[in-house]
Amino acid sequence: MDTQFSCRFCKNTDIVNSYSAIDIRDNQWYICKCNSCKAFFLAPDPTEKELKLAYDSNYYGEEESKFTFSVERFIDFYRYKRAKKISTQISKKARVLDLGCGNGRFLKHLSSLGDFELSGIELEGGSAERAAKLKEINLKIGTLNENDYAPEYFDAVTLFHVFEHLDKPEETIKIINTILKKDGLLVMSLPNIAGWQSKIFKGKWYHLDPPRHLIFFNPDDLVKIINSKGFRLISKSWLSFEQNPYGWVQSCLNCFCRRREVLYERLKGNKNYAPEYGSFSIFMQKLFFIFSFPFFVLVDLVESIFGKSATVQLTFRKN
Ligand SMILES: [Zn+2]
Repeated sequence: MDTQFSCRFCKNTDIVNSYSAIDIRDNQWYICKCNSCKAFFLAPDPTEKELKLAYDSNYYGEEESKFTFSVERFIDFYRYKRAKKISTQISKKARVLDLGCGNGRFLKHLSSLGDFELSGIELEGGSAERAAKLKEINLKIGTLNENDYAPEYFDAVTLFHVFEHLDKPEETIKIINTILKKDGLLVMSLPNIAGWQSKIFKGKWYHLDPPRHLIFFNPDDLVKIINSKGFRLISKSWLSFEQNPYGWVQSCLNCFCRRREVLYERLKGNKNYAPEYGSFSIFMQKLFFIFSFPFFVLVDLVESIFGKSATVQLTFRKN
């Protein structure tokens, strides 16, 4: 490919252009694949202005929480389940860092399950403001940088749907390796670009989320890379009722609507997005959501058996 682009992960310039995607502001992006490290990445690099727009108040939700009450309750139930699981894998006095901690609800749940020392990092914005109100969390607003924490400080570092947003993913893994103790836990969930949804919907796939998602991997390739950086894989889990069935719903809707993520934006309370879709269209999209969701839960069960789900959670321990 004749281009000035280089791989976001390994900086190699031997890359191929896979397909294009249009974001919610009608900007066109390309998904490129690196022939060296096998990363898929968004190109060109979004400008600071484009990222600022992408993470404006509409991203975090207009109201107190990101979503409407019932959706937030549904997501919160899974945050609690995640916290419960991780609490069994660490000591009761463990130090935990949640990178991209959002509104801090995962750490809040974790605080009720042990005598943990909890840290969170979140970009400036509505979610960070909500997290800052939780006294259980030592919050840093911004990004993870070298020397933020002492070497071997943490017993666990978690990144729930954060890795794909990272501007410098390779450097971030290096820093995590430094601040984790030996046998420390690294838990990350991320979109699976080798999954069925990605293969079927390509540029219209919900979890592509341009221009916020900058980097993707086939999980097998990512596991090899992270293992090579001083970790060992403990488990891989595919089933995610909070992510994968809705991915099918919204990706299907993205094929019918000219603009992407119309229903998702409305569910977040972003009333200004895509006004050309009136109340009847939104009503029909909600009906499709309600009636197709149970079917897509079954589909998620099947795709998880084959390791082809739209998202994956990887758990490593540091060597
Ligand atoms: Zn690469």
